[in-house]
Amino acid sequence: MTASGGVSMTDQTVEQCDVAVIGGGPGGSTAAALLARRGYKVIALEKAHHPRFHIGESLLPMNLPVFERLGVLDKVRALGVFKPGADFEADNERGYNTYAFARAIGQSPPHAYQVWRQDFDQMLYQHARECGADAREGHEVVRVEQRGLRETWLDVKTDDGRSYGIEARYLVDASGRDALLSTKNKLRRKNDQHQSAAIFGHFRGAEYRPGEDAGNISIYSFEHGWMWMIPLPDGVMSVGAVCRPDYLKQRKGRTVEFLLDTLKLSPALWRRVEQAELVGNEVRVTGNYSYDSTQMGGPGWVLVGDAFAFLDPVFSSGVYLAMSGAEQAAAVVDQSLREPKREPGLLRRLEKRQRAGMARFSFFIYRFNGPVMQQMFRQPRNTWQLEQGVISMLAGDLFDTPKVLWRLQLFKLVYAICGLRDWRRWRAEHKYRLAQARAQFAGGNTPLDKA
Ligand SMILES: Cc1cc2nc3c(=O)[nH]c(=O)nc-3n(C[C@H](O)[C@H](O)[C@H](O)COP(=O)(O)OP(=O)(O)OC[C@H]3O[C@@H](n4cnc5c(N)ncnc54)[C@H](O)[C@@H]3O)c2cc1C
Repeated sequence: MTASGGVSMTDQTVEQCDVAVIGGGPGGSTAAALLARRGYKVIALEKAHHPRFHIGESLLPMNLPVFERLGVLDKVRALGVFKPGADFEADNERGYNTYAFARAIGQSPPHAYQVWRQDFDQMLYQHARECGADAREGHEVVRVEQRGLRETWLDVKTDDGRSYGIEARYLVDASGRDALLSTKNKLRRKNDQHQSAAIFGHFRGAEYRPGEDAGNISIYSFEHGWMWMIPLPDGVMSVGAVCRPDYLKQRKGRTVEFLLDTLKLSPALWRRVEQAELVGNEVRVTGNYSYDSTQMGGPGWVLVGDAFAFLDPVFSSGVYLAMSGAEQAAAVVDQSLREPKREPGLLRRLEKRQRAGMARFSFFIYRFNGPVMQQMFRQPRNTWQLEQGVISMLAGDLFDTPKVLWRLQLFKLVYAICGLRDWRRWRAEHKYRLAQARAQFAGGNTPLDKA
């Protein structure tokens, strides 16, 4: 035994645990907290130090029950800006329609929050620690090797130059868009339906929506994609554009001007931002390359959040999918460690559920910029409560509520009928989208560049 309680084979320290969790984002922290609470010895490994920058600031109402079960709802409330709904441009007098979460037809809470991710992620990681996880920072997992059904080996390097090994009975990979295990095992596949990349910054002095809409996320469509405005604490507004590959390829250098010129392409958004100041004159760019993994789990391992799949963020689904997926995955890990024979069935069910939820979001994401969907968002009709079904989707209620699920099915039917009426435009848009999905970005595998 070594001083740290590990055993030493060669001269490397080796530690043992029940569950190793890679990544201290929302997915990793949720899994680590819940498994530690169930009495497992959990080691969580985050390569950065909190608080660290992360994009993904707008949360969904269906996140709130997860926060409650995790025991952090009050802490999120203290960090967040109240988000009553999402608004989209419309042809009415005020120029937008609000999809207020209070009008959803399922059981989703009537609001959500928007947060600075560095504070939110730090709080969640600290919470995992308080629940009993050994949550480490500045510890990067550099190699993973599965040596047996209940024996996974991890090589870890710390940012003060040490290295050590961990032997875990179960591995939860929540390494985000690095997708450590999925990449290593060649499970990761690029989405051939949809590709996009984002450019964004934080502004002070941008114009809020009036009255009770002040905390809304605002979504704007433009010819190369869509744009967001997200009110954050301290009067800051997160503003960005998610663009198709061919547009972002025109970017020469990493420039503030490119962001500002892009924002001007939406006159309605630009009116709200033109007098604002870009905080720190800082602009970031991220390749969104949508992807998934061919498998979500196997004997002794499971993927959580972006480490499994990444969707275009137009409906702010990432944190919710990561945390709700982590909650489900933690239950699977627990049951698999207790009753190993059930593991294959549990993993299959977990993957099926996660893919079904993602597919429901994807239907809207892929078509969001098309003429038919734009028309439906600009002039929503609530026949058969279809509009309210869409609000429930926007709230993240797309796993378990039958009356929401059948309305989403019906929405697809109405969409198809509208598409048939204007099939030439619909077909042109469809072909363009698929061509964009096949396009390659010049340079940049880096998930996040700072301009
Ligand atoms: C432009 C853009 C806008 C977005 N907007 C939203 C939004 O408004 N709302 C929303 O919900 N989502 C949004 N998202 C998506 C959201 O950012 C992610 O889905 C979410 O952060 C996923 O959480 P996670 O825990 O899976 O991964 P992450 O939050 O990325 O956490 C992964 C962690 O793993 C660590 N890590 C990686 N590799 C290793 C390693 N080898 N060893 C140790 N640690 C490692 C990383 O440092 C990181 O901290 C957006 C994404 C983009 C690109």
